Amino acid sequence: MFTINPGRRALLKALSLAPAAVLLPARLRAAADNALSWQNWSGNQRCAPQAIHYPSDAAQLAEIIRNSSGRIRCFGGSHSFSPVVPTDDTLVSLEAMSGLLGHDPDTLTATFAAGTRIGMASAANYKVGQSFTNEPDINLQSLAGALATSTHGTGAALPALPGMVESLRLMTASGEHLSLSAADGDIFRAACCNVGALGVVTEITFHNEPAYRLEEKTSVMPLRDAMDMIEREKDQQRNIEFFAFPHGESAIVKVTNLTDEPDTPVEAEDSNELLEMACEVSMRAPWLTGMIQKAVTFFVEDTVRRGPAWQIYANKRAVMFNEMEYTVPAEQGLACLERVCDTIRSQDINVFFPIEFRYTAADNSLIGMFSERPGCSISVHQYHRQDYAPLFNAVEPIFHQHAGRPHWGKLHSMDVAALRGVYPHLDRFREIRAQLDPTGKFLNPHLESIFGVQA
Ligand SMILES: Cc1cc2nc3c(=O)[nH]c(=O)nc-3n(C[C@H](O)[C@H](O)[C@H](O)COP(=O)(O)OP(=O)(O)OC[C@H]3O[C@@H](n4cnc5c(N)ncnc54)[C@H](O)[C@@H]3O)c2cc1C
Repeated sequence: MFTINPGRRALLKALSLAPAAVLLPARLRAAADNALSWQNWSGNQRCAPQAIHYPSDAAQLAEIIRNSSGRIRCFGGSHSFSPVVPTDDTLVSLEAMSGLLGHDPDTLTATFAAGTRIGMASAANYKVGQSFTNEPDINLQSLAGALATSTHGTGAALPALPGMVESLRLMTASGEHLSLSAADGDIFRAACCNVGALGVVTEITFHNEPAYRLEEKTSVMPLRDAMDMIEREKDQQRNIEFFAFPHGESAIVKVTNLTDEPDTPVEAEDSNELLEMACEVSMRAPWLTGMIQKAVTFFVEDTVRRGPAWQIYANKRAVMFNEMEYTVPAEQGLACLERVCDTIRSQDINVFFPIEFRYTAADNSLIGMFSERPGCSISVHQYHRQDYAPLFNAVEPIFHQHAGRPHWGKLHSMDVAALRGVYPHLDRFREIRAQLDPTGKFLNPHLESIFGVQA
């Protein structure tokens, strides 16, 4: 997220009340006493399935779908915070169905096995002269998992993943292997953001850009200046976003554009050490949170990074957190953020993690967050060792008042009745889901709630 000034590291360490040994257990992810257990990245979702399968081709996958009794849920990189994966029946991973399957330099398309991680796919694209149009801020998700929740980056003119897909293959509950593209109408629109509810996506073809390089500039400024800047610059810069620290009234702004300038050296440091220490201090001494957020300007250096797109998009997120993200209509973004920040301050909610603020173009998916509506995404994060409920419960009503659409992979409390109000094509999606999976093989309790299916 940002780079620490090395000369200030010693002072920061002195500030930390947490001995390093106390930090370790957070990193030692739940030991697997039971081989058949699963948990997500932040550890807030877990399950103990009867079986976990890793098919290596479509024939094996079809056999698993036919022969499994009970529910089947897929997992990709396990980077979702909401309970979109857990089941106590059967889990399926396409980790063994990974890699570039083909590409066409004339149409600038590339087809990947759906278990490929974004980072691997992006590097493989680059080797054949292509780059994804945009990417999220980490690249450890699988392509199918990221598509399932309409994963996005930032850029007012750039789409989320559903808007980058040319075609895909989907294996349904009957084992039928469908090839879908825009010519298939609503079923393709549904598959382009499917929350894993329509079956198993096995291949995805993306329409890409000619391979490009990026220059990313990171700077720190007062929060008000960052808000003014993004309002002024959001249509001028390729990718622009900021991380707001409401208690400190400061922000870290990231602006990224195409470049022909030489690569910068790969930096040795990133922000994770600073972030972990700040979170620990803030958790133990809430009265210091405002001061630490203000000190961000002192600890964080302005930086410039240049290199191939696939290297510049990716960030390391080694400090775990839980997250709620809502996408509001683009023109309401800043007003909504101001209310979120005011609420955090007036209720004195203890959170060090900054709020991420991004723009994304509209797409044609049925239930993506950017379905037929350009959006502004506002993400609130809480350190994984702190209770996220006070923060998320306080800000969620503000998102609802701004017609916010929850990110399907992040925490929210909306059920089908509420979701219908912000996703106008939700009922069409539900019809398609019921046609493709009439017995609810690909559901779990969370999906029953968001799609209104009686168990
Ligand atoms: C540190 C961090 C940073 C993040 N940054 C961003 C960001 O910048 N932008 C953003 O939008 N989101 C972001 N996310 C959220 C993340 O991109 C989404 O939750 C994404 O869906 C996770 O992909 P995954 O491969 O880990 O899928 P999982 O979390 O494993 O699964 C997500 C969904 O995909 C389904 N699925 C998986 N594989 C298949 C398949 N083959 N066929 C059908 N369904 C399948 C699952 O059943 C589930 O419903 C971030 C998350 C974390 C933890």
